Amino acid sequence: MAYDFDLFVIGAGSGGVRAARFAAGFGAKVAVAESRYLGGTCVNVGCVPKKLLVYGAHFADDFEHAKGFGWSLDEAGFDWATLIANKNREIERLNGIYRNLLVNSGVTLHEGHARLIDPHQVEVNGQRFTAKKILIATGGWPQIPEIPGREHAISSNEAFFLKTLPKRVIVVGGGYIAVEFAGIFEGLGAETTLLYRRELFLRGFDISVRKHLQEELTKRGMDLQFNADIQRIDKQADGSLKVTLKDGRSLETDCVFYATGRRPMLDNLGLEHTGVRFDERGFVEVNDQYETAEPSILAIGDVIGRVQLTPVALAEGMAVARRLFQPEQYRKVDYLHIPTAVFSQPPIGTVGLTEEQAREQGHDVVLFESRFRPMKLTLTECQERTLMKLVVDKKSDKVLGCHMVGPDAGEIVQGLAIALKAGATKQLFDETIGVHPTAAEEFVTLRTPVA
Ligand code: FAD
Ligand code: NDP
Repeated sequence: MAYDFDLFVIGAGSGGVRAARFAAGFGAKVAVAESRYLGGTCVNVGCVPKKLLVYGAHFADDFEHAKGFGWSLDEAGFDWATLIANKNREIERLNGIYRNLLVNSGVTLHEGHARLIDPHQVEVNGQRFTAKKILIATGGWPQIPEIPGREHAISSNEAFFLKTLPKRVIVVGGGYIAVEFAGIFEGLGAETTLLYRRELFLRGFDISVRKHLQEELTKRGMDLQFNADIQRIDKQADGSLKVTLKDGRSLETDCVFYATGRRPMLDNLGLEHTGVRFDERGFVEVNDQYETAEPSILAIGDVIGRVQLTPVALAEGMAVARRLFQPEQYRKVDYLHIPTAVFSQPPIGTVGLTEEQAREQGHDVVLFESRFRPMKLTLTECQERTLMKLVVDKKSDKVLGCHMVGPDAGEIVQGLAIALKAGATKQLFDETIGVHPTAAEEFVTLRTPVA
């Protein structure tokens, strides 16, 4: 049977754009449908605008630190509306770049909501198209628990477009988004509380990292409330919000921001007309080649709920394009040693196993840890400290994990990820000459194991 397209991609986010562009580059006839914004979550309401706000928030510290280097400034003023307007302008520029990337690579772009009619047919804007393969790359959406007053809360989607910076904010959650946005709000001057339902936030990260960040955020004056969860939110006559906690306490605030995970975006997608199956959390189930239970339909990125990171969605998109249209270049995505950063203040950078994971996997571990005051802060009043940690396998001497909390952690850990992927031993780290004076050199000068 002749199809309109070899590949129809639903979703022009990180994974979808990558798959579409490369598939077209390999000679396939490709279409993409996008209902909301080109570039997807990362470009519009994710990584990019988030990082711009993190940069914005950091200036408060920078102005303060500048005094130690002899600079004197009048009192610094901050205008949220300017930051948001400039951020929006940059995102619009990026939307244009994504449009050009798609069109110039020969992909047919349909701007509208796509819905499956059957396993080979998609409807967009009232038009129907057939395709040999259909790729679901529809990403995720913030998930706010069903509590009374939930309509008064916002998610990251709205946070990027707030008209004014709230004076007081309660951020709910203990994952990436909660920690990053709590840092943004606090840095920009809002009175910030972070509420997390268990004992210590950032579950899944190395224990030293979690404790270190807890100490650093507390030093900065952030109100960290663990073992705390919201029962209800009530709007008061003066417009402020009364937040009642499950332990009976109540707090007053101007904004409640939920960052409690993301669900797969499957709304009105028509998957019920296909044999696609879902895992127990509701994400699209795929095999290791991203094939769903319906032979003509594949899925990648956040919608499959594996690792919700842009570079992973990109790698999955590339793998699908190669396997379908350039199989001789196909390589499986390697989910080991995925480096990641949390852009908190100070940021976290991490790659490989945590101490707990290494032990669980049966390794006899040797740990190396260093805590120090970053050189840049020695002339300032700031008491922030950096943490670096290596998890090493005693028997093989292989470095299993590198963890850092401190300035530029994300930048530093990218290079270390290559070393770990190459199977570097602690001896190789020791034989590597440092770059002096940097913080990163500490990773190659850690000599004494933690007792
Ligand atoms: P998306 O990028 O979400 O793209 C899906 C696209 O599909 C969307 O554009 C959507 O509009 C479209 N769509 C959905 N349904 C339909 C339909 N029926 N028809 C047509 N189009 C449809 N990751 C990092 O690596 N680093 C970070 O610093 C980082 N920061 C983040 C910060 C925030 C606040 C958030 C929310 C996420 C962040 N992420 C970060 C995660 C990252 O954004 C995602 O992992 C990534 O965008 C997933 O790509 P994707 O292609 O799977 O989906
Ligand atoms: P995460 O899964 O990282 O964290 C969700 C948090 O919300 C957890 O602390 C979880 O607690 C808590 N939680 C979940 N359900 C509830 C509930 N019903 N009530 C109270 N608390 C709840 O999700 P995020 O929303 O922070 O981010 C989504 C994903 O986006 C991240 O996992 C990450 O993959 C990606 N991302 C990446 C970034 C980066 O690379 N820098 C930045 C931002 C997002 P518990 O620990 O108990 O489960």
